[in-house]
Amino acid sequence: MNSELPPEFIVKVDYDRCRRCRRCVMNCSFGCMTFKDRVVPEHRRCVACQRCVTYCPEYAITVSKNELAYKENENWSPEIRKNILKQAETGGMLLTGMGNPREYPILWDHLLIDACQVTNPSIDPLREPMELRTFLGRKPERLEFSMDEAGEIDLVTEIEPQVRLDVPVVFGAMSYGAVSLNVHRSLAMAASRSGTLMNTGEGGLHRELYPYSGNIIVQVASGRFGVHSEYLNTSAMVEIKIGQGAKPGIGGHLPGEKVGEDISKTRMIPVGTDALSPAPHHDIYSIEDLSQLIFAIKEATDYEKPVSVKISAVHNVAAIASGIVRAGADVVTIDGFRGGTGATPMVIRDNVGIPIELALAAVDERLREEGIRNNASILCAGGIRSSGDVAKAIALGADAAVIGTAALVALGCRICQKCYTGNCAWGIATQKPELVRRLNPQIGADRLTNLLAAWSLELKEILGSLGVNSIESLRGSRERLRGVGLDSQTLELLGVKPAGVGQ
Ligand code: SF4
Ligand code: SF4
Repeated sequence: MNSELPPEFIVKVDYDRCRRCRRCVMNCSFGCMTFKDRVVPEHRRCVACQRCVTYCPEYAITVSKNELAYKENENWSPEIRKNILKQAETGGMLLTGMGNPREYPILWDHLLIDACQVTNPSIDPLREPMELRTFLGRKPERLEFSMDEAGEIDLVTEIEPQVRLDVPVVFGAMSYGAVSLNVHRSLAMAASRSGTLMNTGEGGLHRELYPYSGNIIVQVASGRFGVHSEYLNTSAMVEIKIGQGAKPGIGGHLPGEKVGEDISKTRMIPVGTDALSPAPHHDIYSIEDLSQLIFAIKEATDYEKPVSVKISAVHNVAAIASGIVRAGADVVTIDGFRGGTGATPMVIRDNVGIPIELALAAVDERLREEGIRNNASILCAGGIRSSGDVAKAIALGADAAVIGTAALVALGCRICQKCYTGNCAWGIATQKPELVRRLNPQIGADRLTNLLAAWSLELKEILGSLGVNSIESLRGSRERLRGVGLDSQTLELLGVKPAGVGQ
């Protein structure tokens, strides 16, 4: 069927500036640019990945929205009409990736942080030590010590395994297969340099990255890809993935054409076969089943590693998190609506789940009410974009934040949302060798390390302005947040007062 879809973007080449170097033709991985005496763009193919714009030495290319593609109509937005036309032509489900671009309220932007004035002095982070270090894992109710005759004090309480983070930001789960090995290499090196963690996602861990085990969360998902005893033990922490923010309640699918030799070995599946992750774990239908898997993993890792359970933020998230902690998990990871790097059906991305801010506040509150907050750390994922978001997440109750999209943007991602095509022009969401090469893992690691270093400096400034000198002092301090433009019910759910109200 011939497509009647108007092009989404218009590519303009300034021929007065163009020197006909053809760099744009070589860089475009979506086949938009061809050369016939001069560069000719095929607008319909453009996905606005901005690769040509960035690499044109003459800045001769501009990509703009095709504004007049659809006549204006308040009820029938261009997006809705485009999707109907696409489905009328293909009969298929619409796929997308890299988060939710729609106009849902971002509650982080409606929360403001307190600062000290006059009677409660702030702290200058350039002069005073500021502590960003935190530990993930089950904490004891109290610490008991003993003292011998010589006055030596010993800790008597047995401490459960903990993972140290030097910065309260962890790289989120992105599987090898969905992203390139160079992305995993960049994340592993940056996690090691920054004293934090990367997460394998559900596709196993390439053997080349085993030396980074102290900075790696290995994931056990419903497909159990790449899961074996050595894998579980080559980690700082193990995560059972029940759900992810990009697609709550549904499974995953890595097409066979992406399963080459290396991915096949890492995932332990034959070359060229589709990697299908079932929606549920076929051995988990209750909290008791989950508990069995948690303890099977603890047995397999000699009780030396914390076990995390990752869930999507859904309506009943607080009760589910409570069950997870009671099942023996040491960390609960909540992944919110809006976030998520994974390829997903658009209808799920746009309509399923709840925002992370509300889910986080509800989970922290519930675990406190039940007196089990100490039993597990909370990782907050899904739409964390800046150090300000990290600080607000920690004040709302998280132990640390998780970044996926922000990390990929640091690596070059332009959020064109065409990850599922496998043609990522930036070498990120692709397995094509000629595209994978575009991401230099050394440079990628430098960029990610810089990002975390910059956020660390900013977090220290925030702590200083709040008059506290450690990130742990901020955790759960909702009294240091105020809401603007939020209705009373949302404020109540967040446990935050409106701006203008004092203590
Ligand atoms: S990259 Fe720029 S200068 Fe080179 S051919 Fe394309 S438009 Fe012309
Ligand atoms: S990873 Fe690549 S394909 Fe996916 S949104 Fe980013 S630039 Fe686009």
